[in-house]
Amino acid sequence: MTRLFAGTEWDQPPRCDHCGELAQACECPPLEESSARSLAAPETQTARIAVEKRKRGKLMTVVRGLAAADNDLPALLSRLKTDCGAGGTIKDDTIEIQGDHQSRIAKALSAIGYRVKS
Ligand SMILES: [Zn+2]
Repeated sequence: MTRLFAGTEWDQPPRCDHCGELAQACECPPLEESSARSLAAPETQTARIAVEKRKRGKLMTVVRGLAAADNDLPALLSRLKTDCGAGGTIKDDTIEIQGDHQSRIAKALSAIGYRVKS
C-alpha cells in the first residue's frame, strides 16, 4: 500500500484564503472576530495616556481616546496587561492599567499604529 496523496499536488500545505499566505505564516485575525464588526484603523486614532492617583495613593495609567465601538478594547487590554505585567480594567471607552506604565503603554500603542499623546 502507498499513501494516497503523499507527494502529489493534493499534499500541499493549506493557505489562508484571506491574505494568501501559508496558514502557518498568516497573521490575519480569526475570521469570526474580524467580520463581526468593523474597527477603525489605529492610524486614524489618538490615544491619550495619563497617570492618575487613586485611593490610597495608588497610581493608575489611563488610556483615553480609543472608542470601544472602533477598537477591540478587551484585546488591547489583555495585550497591555501582558506588556506591563499588571492588572487592568475597561471602563466605557477608557482602559485603566494598575501602576505607572506610561512609557511602556505609549510604546505598545505606537507599535500597533495608534498615534499617542501623553
Ligand atoms: Zn491570512
